[in-house]
Amino acid sequence: MTHLTMTALFLSALLLSSGIRLWLSLRQAAHVRGHRDAVPVEFAGGIDLASHQKAADYTLAKGRHGRFDLAWGLVWVLLLTLGGGLQLMHDTVSTVFDPTGLWHGIALFGLLSVSGFLWELPGSLYYTFSLEARFGFNKTTAALFLSDLAKSTLISVLIGAPLLWCVLWLMRSMGAHWWIWTWGVLIAFNLAAMVIYPVFIAPLFNKFEPLKDEALAARVTQLLSRCGFRAKGLFVMDGSRRSGHGNAYFTGFGAAKRIVFYDTLLETLNPDEVEAVLAHELGHFKHRHIVQRVAVFALLSFILFALLGWLGQQDAFFNGLGVSSRSEALTLILFSLLLAPFTFPLTPLMSYWSRKHEFEADAYAVAHARADDLVSALVKLYRDNASTLTPDPLHSLFYDSHPPAAIRIAHLKAAA
Ligand SMILES: [Zn+2]
Repeated sequence: MTHLTMTALFLSALLLSSGIRLWLSLRQAAHVRGHRDAVPVEFAGGIDLASHQKAADYTLAKGRHGRFDLAWGLVWVLLLTLGGGLQLMHDTVSTVFDPTGLWHGIALFGLLSVSGFLWELPGSLYYTFSLEARFGFNKTTAALFLSDLAKSTLISVLIGAPLLWCVLWLMRSMGAHWWIWTWGVLIAFNLAAMVIYPVFIAPLFNKFEPLKDEALAARVTQLLSRCGFRAKGLFVMDGSRRSGHGNAYFTGFGAAKRIVFYDTLLETLNPDEVEAVLAHELGHFKHRHIVQRVAVFALLSFILFALLGWLGQQDAFFNGLGVSSRSEALTLILFSLLLAPFTFPLTPLMSYWSRKHEFEADAYAVAHARADDLVSALVKLYRDNASTLTPDPLHSLFYDSHPPAAIRIAHLKAAA
């Protein structure tokens, strides 16, 4: 492979994937705008026209922001690679650190993270403090934003730097099969993170408490024991500290597995609806969706690491992407920049798989709670989160981790 072939491959993948993303985003905008004037008949009872139009405007605003982000991110990747930015950072770090040492790699990652953060800062400030605020969702204050930033930086340094050091050391010391070792370490790290994150890290950002409402807690405990889930694993999180969006999710495995309800969600749902949403989350647990996801992630990343092991030996991989120096850190960074455009074709497959899991969890909820309650809980969720009820079918097919509202509710009603 010559370096020109590499450049051409990279540019084609980058422009093609960005082009498709732009096209899908514009389709979504046109579809949502076209259905803005009337609430779909199947939701006429639960959602009024004002809420429907708010959801349309919110979706359109997020779409515009997404297209800006897409262009902004594209410029960044091009600046880093063909624009020589990464080489410039490498040379800058070399004025302080010995370029053959591992610390050089860690400093390079640090410099790249800080500049990437600054590059994205205007967009993320606008998103939180203007877009989300305009629709009444933002509850994050400037002080909370800064303290979140300080905490997450500290955690990335404390956990990320030793992990990175370990990976760079393996790349240097393990010979041709370094990528198998690195893959093994990253899988082990991921499994550990799934236990450590919900128990030790998430509580640094939010409060997690058992259900306070005793009547509700009693019902919920019954459902949990009926489904074979230990009752200590249900938590209420103060999501209202940062945003008005409500949600419930299932996370972790083994002793760290837990179901988390946002306080914002509990405020709007009645006890029957809480039970139905909980039953849905238990469906994810019963069907072992997290374990399946971990297994697929392990398999996919094994293939990607094999590719990385091969690419790291090709001169064209570096020269074709605007880098003339060689180091373990540069190999990792260039590969991570390639990942997004080249794994983009997997997006619809992963989305399809996730929607399949949602249908399975819904079926479980119907068997262990009432379908009508789940339907009314979902309608409240769509309304309060200003989620569009009329997504473009192709956009939805490509990206949506959850089935579109109308299809999901039709399934639930058919099951009931
Ligand atoms: Zn779900």
